[in-house]
Parts: sequence; C-alpha cells; structure tokens
Amino acid sequence: MIENFKRVNLGHFPTPIEHLKSISDYLGGPQIFIKRDDCTGLATGGNKTRKLEFILADALDKDADLIVTVGAIQSNHARQTAAACAKLGLKCLIILEQRLKDAPEIYMSSGNIFLNKVFGAEMILCPKDRDLEDYADEIINKRKINGEKPYFIPVGGSNHFGELGYIECMREIIEKQNNDSFTHIVLATGSGGTQAGLVAGKMIYQSDIKIIGISIKDSKSYQEEKVYKLALNSLRFMGYKTPLLEDIIVEDNYVGLGYAIPTEGMKDALALMATKEGILLDPVYTGKAFDGLVELVKSNYFKSSDRVLFLHTGGSAAIPAFEWAFE
Ligand SMILES: *Cc1c(COP(=O)(O)O)cnc(C)c1O
Repeated sequence: MIENFKRVNLGHFPTPIEHLKSISDYLGGPQIFIKRDDCTGLATGGNKTRKLEFILADALDKDADLIVTVGAIQSNHARQTAAACAKLGLKCLIILEQRLKDAPEIYMSSGNIFLNKVFGAEMILCPKDRDLEDYADEIINKRKINGEKPYFIPVGGSNHFGELGYIECMREIIEKQNNDSFTHIVLATGSGGTQAGLVAGKMIYQSDIKIIGISIKDSKSYQEEKVYKLALNSLRFMGYKTPLLEDIIVEDNYVGLGYAIPTEGMKDALALMATKEGILLDPVYTGKAFDGLVELVKSNYFKSSDRVLFLHTGGSAAIPAFEWAFE
C-alpha cells in the first residue's frame, strides 16, 4: 500500500473539491465539479507537487545532491521541481527544450522561466539539433565526473514514483464522495503519469469512475498506449500482479496545431472559467482540457444526471508568458 512508500511533505493535501455551479447552469448539462490540484500549495501549485513528494523521497534516499530534469520552456514541472529542491536544500538543474516555433520573447523569459530563476535553479537550453534525453545524459555524466550526485527526473515526473501521487489523489476523490458519486473525471494528459496514476488508483480502490484524458500533444492511440504502459508499470511497482483491464480513454480533438500552440477553444474555456467562477486555467494544459469538457457537454456525451469532476492540474503561472495569444 501507498503508506509503505517514502514521501517528503511538500504540499497541502487533500485539495478541495468545489461545485462549478455557474458553469453547470450555463451549459445546462451534467453537474460539474473541480478538484483544486492548482492549490497544492507549492510555488503556485499544480499536479507535479504530488509526484515530487514521492520522487524526491527516492532522490534523498539515494543521497542525491543535484536534481536534473527536463521540460518545455514554460514547463510547470520544472518550476515545481525548482521550488521543491529549494525547500529540500538540493541543487536543481533544468534542461529546457524549445518546442514552440517562433515563440515571442516574453515566452522565453516570463512565467515559469522567471520563477525558475527566483527559486535559484540553474537552466540550460537544449540545442535545437540535439535529442533532449541524450543531451541530458551527457550533462549528467559531466556532472558526475565533477563529483556531484545527480538524480534524473523524467519529463513531467511521470514514472512509478510520481504516479504514486495520483494513486493517492484517487483515494482522496473516492473518500470524499459518499452518496453522490462522481461518474467521470476529466483531466489534461501530457507525459501521462497523472492519468496513469488515477487509472491505477481506480483499479486499486475498485471504483467505476470513467477517467477521460484530454490530450494536449499526442494522438489518441499514442497517448492511450503511453498511459496504459505507465499505469501497468505503476501497479507492478506497487506489487499488484493482476492484469490491467481498465479502459484507457483519451480524446485528441482539442490539441489544435500542437503542444502549447493556443487555440480559440482554449481561450474561450479560459475566459469561461475566469468570468463565471473566478478560477484561472492555463493556456497549455487545463485550458485545452476544459475546452474538451465543454465540447463533450455540448455534444451530449454526458447524461444530465452525471456528475463530472474536472481535475485542475495547475499551470496558471505560465499565463504571463502567453499574453500575446490573447490580444
Ligand atoms: C504536467 C501538467 C499536466 C499533465 O500531466 P502529465 O502527468 O504530464 O500527463 C497537466 N496540467 C498541467 C498544468 C501540467 O503542468
């Protein structure tokens, strides 16, 4: 069980669940709720806090003194890792990948990039002609020769340690619902660990909630395969030998032209959540995911008796870097 795994305390848990009454009324479909993992408490919050509690416990266990991770320029995972390292007295090195072509200058300097500096992290930009993981390997080897003890965290913190955080989140969700069960969870899915953890948790705690990942980058089939593998791996890591028979559901109609490229639907969803509920979404993940939820409601995907829980995975710290998209 999850209590058997080491964990460091980084966030505020359990996160609240709120009813989105105005949006539910406005859309006239199922009742919609929100789980506020944007309020995990670490460095403006987000889903990486839960993952880092388990990942960094392993890093400390292995006597690491330097945490190395990778991500997109406006990576929320990088910012949360930088803050967690600051708190734990670890050095943090972030290797950034330029995925958004012709990005405005503000995208390269504001939002999470600025915050990484505030948290004292070191940042290196991966050269355009290099594979990110290879480049990270090369740097890690150099730092080892330097006498440091690096510990690598994969993109998005999606590995069997990180997923423990979302198995735990699933437990929180199931514990909270008494008579009024949620029928669906809708969330943004990227590196896949968040959805994989929820799916593994769903199996462990024997829930029949449907979990719908809205892809923000990859195709439906690719993402479903990725999430399946991560969930299976995470169950094996926890000692479960049973087959993973859960359906993995991913929708890929809301990505637009690609990762981090703003869409009209994202902007509408962000405006809807801000003006009706006073809650900030983000342009890369939750804005596109909530656009997906709104479109699913409009296309009668849900019954009016359904109770849909939107998992807010954070990301609003990136908003200043995207001002240009809202002009
Ligand atoms: C990383 C991230 C996600 C995606 O989570 P994965 O576990 O990588 O699929 C969603 N929302 C926000 C705000 C994120 O930073």
